[in-house]
Amino acid sequence: MNPDSATPVGVAEGDGIGPEITRATLRILEAAGASIEWHPVVIGQQAYEAGVATGVSDDAWDLLRRHRLLLKGPITTPQGGGYKSVNVTLRKSLGLFANVRETKSYGPYVQTRHDEMNLVIVRENEEDLYAGIEHRQTREVTQSLKLISRPGSERIVRFAFEYARAYGRRRVTCMTKDNIMKLTDGLFHKTFDAVAQEYPDIEADHLIIDIGAAKLADRPDTFDVIVTLNLYGDILSDIASQIAGSVGLGGSANVGDGVAMFEAVHGSAPDIAGQGIANPSGMLLAAVQLLVHVGQVEVAERIGNAWLRTLEDGCHTGDLYRAGSSIERVGTDGFADAVIDRIGTNPKHLAPVHYRHHDLRIELADPPQERKELRGIDVFLDWTEAGRDAGVLGQAVERAAGAVDWKLAMITNRGVKVYPDGFPETFRTDHWRCRFRPEGGAVTDFDAVLRLLGAVHGAGFDVVKTEGLYDFDGVPGYSLGQGE
Ligand code: NAD
Repeated sequence: MNPDSATPVGVAEGDGIGPEITRATLRILEAAGASIEWHPVVIGQQAYEAGVATGVSDDAWDLLRRHRLLLKGPITTPQGGGYKSVNVTLRKSLGLFANVRETKSYGPYVQTRHDEMNLVIVRENEEDLYAGIEHRQTREVTQSLKLISRPGSERIVRFAFEYARAYGRRRVTCMTKDNIMKLTDGLFHKTFDAVAQEYPDIEADHLIIDIGAAKLADRPDTFDVIVTLNLYGDILSDIASQIAGSVGLGGSANVGDGVAMFEAVHGSAPDIAGQGIANPSGMLLAAVQLLVHVGQVEVAERIGNAWLRTLEDGCHTGDLYRAGSSIERVGTDGFADAVIDRIGTNPKHLAPVHYRHHDLRIELADPPQERKELRGIDVFLDWTEAGRDAGVLGQAVERAAGAVDWKLAMITNRGVKVYPDGFPETFRTDHWRCRFRPEGGAVTDFDAVLRLLGAVHGAGFDVVKTEGLYDFDGVPGYSLGQGE
């Protein structure tokens, strides 16, 4: 190895099984002749324990910004306590907008019901409910904001099509739930349909996420590239790795503009940490993706082929071991030794790997210029009086609003209309949305909204939040209440 030409890369061992699988992975890379200069980065548990609430110290940020490449072990996210997930923080802060997870099955050497599986999930990595903007607004109701942007959707969808074209894949399937979330998931789906027009050589289709997930679990061989929103992509990629044989087998790349982070799909597996039995394959395949990314394709192929040969030879960690078909049960280090022993060999039955790297550059279209007009306001109230009788609430807020030239269009509770003409059967929490429209004028402004809020507050109501009702070029940018 020539240290002068070695590529500098940050490496974070991570938590739980992280240190074990990272050490095994680095040993294999070294034995295969990878030319990487590793820079250890402390993130996760150790950083939390040192009082760094984000889990990433300033030194770690400096190093990551300088080298722009990271191989990362799994990180334990402490539950509750105000800690943010380090994974989410890293992905968003470094602009790693695409999470790419290739999933293949390796039957009969890794037991699976899906021998023909070979798919890629391209998951949007920065938006959706992972914005982590959550509020408790009343005693009974909490809220998480699902943020989907047009440029965010366009970027990931273009990435999926560019990826398909570069890597010889034929079809891209989009999955959303836009039959319910017409604005957020609808924006993603519409963006997909528009971008797909520019790639006539690639087949494009859409599935509602629930049936899409069911089909993925049943017939994964019928999928090629899947592009989807953050949360759905998170769930789908674990399903895909699990049905391919083990979550321990999946590697993933988090890709941004000139920066990338590689990691295993699985978590820190605290249940088996420290026992030396974890499968290092997910981390190893992530490292192989990193090698391809930095142009060390031959080394990557040497490792990929030795790894396949190890699986074929029946040398398996506990998660893959099956009496009868496996030959030898090994621990993390034993597995690494077995791969190292096979460097220079190819699999005998499975197809040898051939990697290519394409630098995918994503250009966004110019944003549309739309006229934005405020047509009303949703005011959310915390209210529990009068036995939660929506009629009592409706008449009281109608009076308050009428005095400042606003009229009440409806009240909903958890999105269902309860006033006027609600059903007594509808369950009512303490969280009420009152939709107001300006009296005698289609368009309003924020001064008028402030007068309305003053009147509602002055009438003794607890205003917990507002949302503007905007039209964009005359098209409503808000959903109707169920039953409105
Ligand atoms: P997990 O993936 O850690 O474990 C799920 C199951 O799979 C466990 O039974 C575990 O023993 C097994 N498993 C996972 N990796 C394995 C491997 N390499 N070899 C053999 N078996 C393996 O998921 P979890 O238990 O839900 O999460 C544990 C922690 O990991 C949580 O704190 C979670 O937030 C974190 N997590 C981190 C990442 C990441 O860093 N990217 C991803 C997912 C979860």
